[in-house]
Amino acid sequence: MQLIDGKAVAGRVLAQCKDDAMRLTAEGRAPGLAVVMVGDDPASRAYVGSKERTCVQLGFHSVKHELPADTTQQQLVGLVRQLNDDPEIDGILVQSPPPAHIDEAAVVRMIDPAKDVDGFHPDNVAKLAMEDDSAFVPCTPLGVQRLLQESGVDTAGAEAVVVGRSMIVGKPMALLLSRRGPGGDATVTIAHSRTRDLAAVCRRADILVAAIGRPRMIGPDHVKDGAVVIDVGINRIEDAGDKRGYRLVGDVDFDLVAPRCRAITPVPGGVGPMTIAMLMENTIRARRRRGV
Ligand code: NDP
Repeated sequence: MQLIDGKAVAGRVLAQCKDDAMRLTAEGRAPGLAVVMVGDDPASRAYVGSKERTCVQLGFHSVKHELPADTTQQQLVGLVRQLNDDPEIDGILVQSPPPAHIDEAAVVRMIDPAKDVDGFHPDNVAKLAMEDDSAFVPCTPLGVQRLLQESGVDTAGAEAVVVGRSMIVGKPMALLLSRRGPGGDATVTIAHSRTRDLAAVCRRADILVAAIGRPRMIGPDHVKDGAVVIDVGINRIEDAGDKRGYRLVGDVDFDLVAPRCRAITPVPGGVGPMTIAMLMENTIRARRRRGV
């Protein structure tokens, strides 16, 4: 069984991003990423903090806007407009989820698609579906695809099952795996909460991607011998023995599933680090395209 080390692969991607950032800075301007957060959800705060730290480590121009929970839609859209017009900013990210009174989809539509490094704007979603290489692709599924490629997993002709159909992970994952070319050409099934006999559908998979948000839901009955299993899930479960009072587990019951697998990602240390690495790579791409 091969343990797919997302931290190591992400480390290599980030090293390349650092070199690229140095070169781009020497050419006239560092890549710039703006991260906007509304409210004080602790998980969001942790994600935003680690994005900012990574930017600083890579020599990016990093801007963080932490807005109070009672920020209005109009104020948030105003900030997005300002960032769209800021010549030093190449990428804009509005951390999800915002408070309930914010219409998140409407905010995403206001982001300049050329700065939409999360790949959530409808223009980029359409481009991904149309196999237009200029699309910004959502970072988590992009990271999964890179992990598969870096781990020597051949997707061409493989049966892939993606559990989850969100616009952030499941749907773009299925589009990436089914599109023509390297890291694609798989035969893809999308499963979700209405899927009949999920275990039987999952057992068809040579490559199983779990993006559900249910701790350890995927057990050995869902996995055929020799499958490659990618666990996107990040779930907090109570753990009195941990000083934080919780620990992170995936959507896959790792201990029971791993012995059946050809390869599997751990949680933490699998897909998570790749998400940030892809965000940085997308920001470099945006900077290159926008020029100095
Ligand atoms: P969503 O809640 O948006 O989507 C979950 C999907 O799982 C839905 O399509 C849902 O089906 C499906 N689902 C829920 N319950 C079941 C079930 N019992 N059987 C089959 N399918 C089910 O979550 P996200 O896609 O945003 O995230 C999924 C997981 O990935 C979460 O744990 C999240 O924390 C993690 N994540 C990790 C990232 C990383 O960097 N590693 C980044 C983003 C997310 P339906 O559509 O029918 O409701």
